[in-house]
Amino acid sequence: MIWDDFLNSMWRDWRGSGRSEDRLESPEWIGQWLSEHRLTAPHLPSPQEMVELKKLRDLLLRIVQAFAAGSQPDPEDLGELNRVMADGPVVRQIVQTDQRYRLDCVPTLLGWTQIGAEIAASFAHTLADKDPARMRICSNPDCLWVYYDDTRNRSKRYCDDKLCGNLMKVRRFRARKKAGD
Ligand SMILES: [Zn+2]
Repeated sequence: MIWDDFLNSMWRDWRGSGRSEDRLESPEWIGQWLSEHRLTAPHLPSPQEMVELKKLRDLLLRIVQAFAAGSQPDPEDLGELNRVMADGPVVRQIVQTDQRYRLDCVPTLLGWTQIGAEIAASFAHTLADKDPARMRICSNPDCLWVYYDDTRNRSKRYCDDKLCGNLMKVRRFRARKKAGD
């Protein structure tokens, strides 16, 4: 999804070195993310556009944090989400592929304001058509990766059980051993 990849542009070393990297600042990362989600930007974000993107990232993260904590987002944050979407209008278009028809929402503007609206819309789509209570933040405090829990019993606690899950298991084991000494 556009929105969770966007949120995870804030990368942290899950192994606990304390290293982190804001990949939104990396032109390579931006280029890859845009092409993966078939978004088009006329240029890299200007300093002001970067400020707006980071504000949007903070906004979405606040909403995810609310859901991940089993609560509801602040209505003001939802209002802000609507405002971001309103700045990037779309037109509806019917598209024929073979014998089938698809209804597309085609962005009308080209630029980072429109891309911000597309990110917000991808998030709003998950809110409306999926289960926002399944939004998660990895339980490894060094990782904090954002993901959507699509497991059947909604029990996914880590972004990756083999990586963060195992690491935390080892940490708990060591803590218990230390407490037992
Ligand atoms: Zn993790």
